[in-house]
Amino acid sequence: MKNKFDYLIIGQGLAGSILAYTLLEKGKRVLVLDEPKLQNCSKVAAGICNPITGRNLVRTWKSNQLFPFLNDFYPKLEKQFDCEFFFKTPVYRPFQTLEQQQDWSAHEDKINEEVIYPKKRFLTENVDDKLGGLLIKNGGHLRTDIFLETIKKYLIEKNAYQEELFDFEKLTLNNESENKNVIYQDIIANHIIFCRGAADKTNPFFEKLPFAPAKGEILHIDFDKDEKTVRELNQIILNKGCWLVPFKESKSNLNNKVEESFTTIFRTGSNYDHKDLSLEPTQKAKEEIETKLKAVLNLDYQIRKHEVGIRPATRTRKPLIGTHKDYPQISIFNGFGAKGVSMIPYFAWQFVEYLSTGKELDKEVRIDK
Ligand SMILES: Cc1cc2nc3c(=O)[nH]c(=O)nc-3n(C[C@H](O)[C@H](O)[C@H](O)COP(=O)(O)OP(=O)(O)OC[C@H]3O[C@@H](n4cnc5c(N)ncnc54)[C@H](O)[C@@H]3O)c2cc1C
Repeated sequence: MKNKFDYLIIGQGLAGSILAYTLLEKGKRVLVLDEPKLQNCSKVAAGICNPITGRNLVRTWKSNQLFPFLNDFYPKLEKQFDCEFFFKTPVYRPFQTLEQQQDWSAHEDKINEEVIYPKKRFLTENVDDKLGGLLIKNGGHLRTDIFLETIKKYLIEKNAYQEELFDFEKLTLNNESENKNVIYQDIIANHIIFCRGAADKTNPFFEKLPFAPAKGEILHIDFDKDEKTVRELNQIILNKGCWLVPFKESKSNLNNKVEESFTTIFRTGSNYDHKDLSLEPTQKAKEEIETKLKAVLNLDYQIRKHEVGIRPATRTRKPLIGTHKDYPQISIFNGFGAKGVSMIPYFAWQFVEYLSTGKELDKEVRIDK
């Protein structure tokens, strides 16, 4: 006898995990298939979300919708699972040039409740912020590894997870009946949704989508000492040429949290490579990241890890969401590029509304636009 589901999701990165969670919350029967040995760029990600970016510090695309949503979403799950993985943290952007500093001094009207201009060096020593800088308040970072493990455990409890390498050869589409569906080995599902990240560039059902995967590398560094600068760096995400994010420990029993967590381990990066999509860490990227880091920080560290991920980026720089034009039982939820942490919770909600009520998706993300 076949096991019946409403949705069969392929991939348990951030996209598959958050989509599966959102569907389960709606009372749907869900099964996620994932092969953990494959590359999963969600596990590698620094997990930063930052609503104001670029040289001119402009609001990122849809940040007015995305940020209120994610600021509810992750803390709600922390409460539900009694586990800490989301750290609201301001992004500190030291000025790169005198011109930039003067520009900001002349345009203080750009400063609002989200951007603070401390008008003096914010960090005390070892960090090159002699021109001062800006603090962006509504930033944060997600410990994606802890988040993914937490969701995996939840899916297992709900009988909604199976470790398996999905193979297109084993998929049968049932197009005959009124209720079209898919059959995969002993599974029958009304709908299959692909969340395979960069691997969906070669998905035979979605060959023409404008994927442009980008390799990124990241270093885990350890300052190995509890000193003033490291304490200060624990309170911010430093962003000057590269970013530096504290790799905070998770605490359970959140209600009894007594003190802020502190770490000497940080993650720093990254680079973008559209040509070399291998999973090998490279000396070139390591040097590039270290050069940028040393330009802003004068502190000894040890490299503990060097990791690689392939971002499911797109030529349009927008996600790719929707249902196949000829097969209504096949969809894709993908293309979150370098901003999965901020985009996925909102678009998972929007996609689930579309699947359950037919409400239209944003024109910019719809694959049939
Ligand atoms: C170095 C680096 C730093 C980053 N930093 C940030 C950041 O600070 N903030 C941010 O928002 N984003 C960041 N990103 C981007 C972020 O990682 C992505 O936006 C996001 O993780 C994409 O998630 P995904 O679920 O679509 O893809 P993935 O995480 O790649 O997940 C795809 C899943 O599909 C599974 N899969 C694939 N094929 C199969 C198959 N045949 N059968 C079974 N399972 C399969 C894989 O095992 C994997 O689990 C970073 C990325 C990199 C590389």
